[in-house]
Amino acid sequence: QATSTPLMQARGIVKRFGKFVALHGVDLQVRPRTVHSVIGPNGAGKTTLFHILTGTLRASEGSIVFDGQDVTQEADYQRVQRGIARSFQVTSLFANLSVRENLRLAAQGAHRAGAFDCWHPPTGARAQREVVDAALERLGLPRLAHVAAGALSHGQQRRLEVGMALAARPRAIFLDEPTSGMGVDDLEEMKRLIRSLRDDHTVVLIEHNMNIVMDISDTITVMQQGRVLVEGPPDAIRSDERVRAAYLGN
Ligand code: ADP
Repeated sequence: QATSTPLMQARGIVKRFGKFVALHGVDLQVRPRTVHSVIGPNGAGKTTLFHILTGTLRASEGSIVFDGQDVTQEADYQRVQRGIARSFQVTSLFANLSVRENLRLAAQGAHRAGAFDCWHPPTGARAQREVVDAALERLGLPRLAHVAAGALSHGQQRRLEVGMALAARPRAIFLDEPTSGMGVDDLEEMKRLIRSLRDDHTVVLIEHNMNIVMDISDTITVMQQGRVLVEGPPDAIRSDERVRAAYLGN
């Protein structure tokens, strides 16, 4: 797997906000079917990089290739159609609609008529139902399909957010702190969910909880002040003095 072609490759990403340089030429290679975490102290540029990879923000310089296609100039909705999905925030769930309805809307919204890539399966009503059923199963929420999203526990809502991204049938899923504010039981559920995604997806994760990052990542990229400080598997990152220093200095 170590030799597989990256699914996503960012090269020399620079991001300027006026005179301030938030990213100073970041390179990132995400291998398919891995969990790749991006960590680093506050202000390191993780969120900015995420927005640039998913298309919410444009890079000032650099390029992004996804599955062999240059997507650098594409908007977020175009990248969704290529198979790049981002988890929704709880605030974007429809509280009064059922879990199933939320997932169905996400499945529909991602692929408006005429806008899919060749690798997407057909999006008929039956196919959509299958996608939603599969998402419910994977989220561990099949028995809550008819419950209003607003009535779910916090942890269940966070899993539903991931499910909303899944319903778009992405190849890569970007998750921004999926475990924030969670209790222990919900944490374990989320860890299991993220690990299970790797069977058929590629996961890119921003996560502050270091134990979780170490547990579920295949690759960890540590950022500091707009640069990649070090990258590697969890064991290498855990014992890296530079990483320790970066966090102590924060
Ligand atoms: P992280 O997610 O690692 O905490 P961010 O990507 O949010 O870091 O921020 C990186 C740096 O870029 C910070 O210094 C932040 O203040 C700055 N920054 C982020 N967004 C903007 C913006 N829209 N305008 C100006 N500066 C920004």
